This record gives sequence, structure tokens and C-alpha cells, in this order.
Amino acid sequence: MPDLPPDLDLAPPYQLTVPRSAALTPASLALKNALWPTVFAPRRKGEPEDWSHARARWACAAMARVVEEARAARAAGEVSACARDAIYGLSPFPACLLAGPPEEPAWPSYVARDTRISSAHRLRHAALNVVRALADPTTTVTTTAAAAATTSAASLTPSPPASIPTKNGQHYLLTSRSLFTTHEPCVMCSMALLHSRVKEVFFLVPMERTGGCGGAACVPKLEGVNHRFAIGRWKTGTGGVSTEGLEVDEDTDS
Ligand SMILES: [Zn+2]
Repeated sequence: MPDLPPDLDLAPPYQLTVPRSAALTPASLALKNALWPTVFAPRRKGEPEDWSHARARWACAAMARVVEEARAARAAGEVSACARDAIYGLSPFPACLLAGPPEEPAWPSYVARDTRISSAHRLRHAALNVVRALADPTTTVTTTAAAAATTSAASLTPSPPASIPTKNGQHYLLTSRSLFTTHEPCVMCSMALLHSRVKEVFFLVPMERTGGCGGAACVPKLEGVNHRFAIGRWKTGTGGVSTEGLEVDEDTDS
């Protein structure tokens, strides 16, 4: 151990108990939040959320937008060169969209594609790029409504950056936000999404060998993680969305 500065007011380390499940009531939320940032989830565990027409439209628009982005990325050459190219041709990398809740249309949405090829950077996965886009206060953003209505991102004033946290974990990047992605996120991205407290992840193409949302692993189900998020697998054809042009080498980590 190095010598610590003498003026450092060090209290001895201690342990305390933290909640391991979401709060079901506002009273429980207040109690649990005093110990650890806790999600308010008034539904019982495992109970599916109601799908209103508005929520279905919101989800269909988001998934259509993200598929369009992935196809555009492929056309622009953002493809992987995997061993199975002979079977699949060049595999497309995924695209992601982060949306606010459907009842909050003013929340900006963020779209990003995988840029591992164009940036020559191995960590530029789509999910990490889209989280980065949200975190970067200089990002050009698009509202959910705009994303649904138009294929090009409308330039709007970016949302103000989150203030500096005053207490441990009070400001997570993705609280209440939903991620739509063409391909199941890899284990690394799934853990990044978990740490950012994403609410739910919807993917179109499962990645059985590399995915972190039920494929190679199911990160939010791991013992000991301090957040859970819902996972939805999009059925091909729903909302007119197809996997055409999104076939991918099964060893690709998305
Ligand atoms: Zn990834």
C-alpha cells in the first residue's frame, strides 16, 4: 500500500444490505432508493407489460428505422469479413436505436450503426455507439416522433447533458429507455446496457453463439447483477419488418 495523504478523512470500510429486486410501490421505492438506486416496477415479476396501440406503433416505427439503418450501413460497406463469407456473403453489422418511453414523445431518440470497419476500431459496436451518442452532448438527435415519420434524422437541439451525479448511481444513462437493435447484442454490449440501466432490449436476429441476451449467455439473468432488463425477440414480419439483407455469420459478435 502506498502512503495515503494524511489529510484524507478515511472512514473504515463497511458493508450494508442493498435491495435485490425492483420496488413495487412508491413507498418501497423511497425506502429502497435510500440504500441503492432502484427501479420502480409496479408490475409483479414476470407479468408482461400491456401493449397499447400507441406502444405497438412506437415499437414498429423504431424497429423499422433500425433495420433501415442497418441496410444503409451494409450498403455503405460496414460489413464483416468472416470465415463463412462463402455461405453468407459479407455479414452486416447491426444498427441500434435508443428510444424514450412511448408516452414521452419529446424524449430524443438516438440511432447508431456499428462502425468497426469504417473507424478501424474493434470496440465500435452499434450498442456502444448509441450509448455514446446519447452521452455526448454534441450529438445531433432526433425525436421518436421524427424517427417514425422520416428516414433522415432531424437536427434538433440536443438534450442537456445529465448533471454530474451527486450520489453514487443517481444518474444512469439509459433509465426508462428502450433499445431496438437488428442483431442480439454481444455479451460486452449487453453488460454495458445493463450497467447503463436500460429498461428493455428488442432484437430481430438472434445470435446464438455470441449474444448476451439469451444466445451465448443471458446477462440480465446472471446471479449478482444489480439490474435486470426485459428482452424481446422481434417476430419477423411484425410491423412489416423482415430480416432480408441482415443474415449474419453466426460467429459475428454484435
Ligand atoms: Zn457488441
